[in-house]
Amino acid sequence: MAPVRKKKSMRVCRECHKVVEGEACVTCGSTNLSEDWTGYLVIIDPKNSGIAKQMKIDMPGRYALKVR
Ligand SMILES: [Zn+2]
Repeated sequence: MAPVRKKKSMRVCRECHKVVEGEACVTCGSTNLSEDWTGYLVIIDPKNSGIAKQMKIDMPGRYALKVR
């Protein structure tokens, strides 16, 4: 897997912690986005990921660990 750097333009959905590249979250449709987040997380197999369960993630994708 290629290393991914955090870009300043990347925003995260405050509702589901998904990394969003557009104006709204593709997962939950929220426009409640934050640029202040830490902990880049790639969930590939949510069913077998403890952290995905903890964060109630059921879709594979890119997420942030903490969103302010
Ligand atoms: Zn969302």
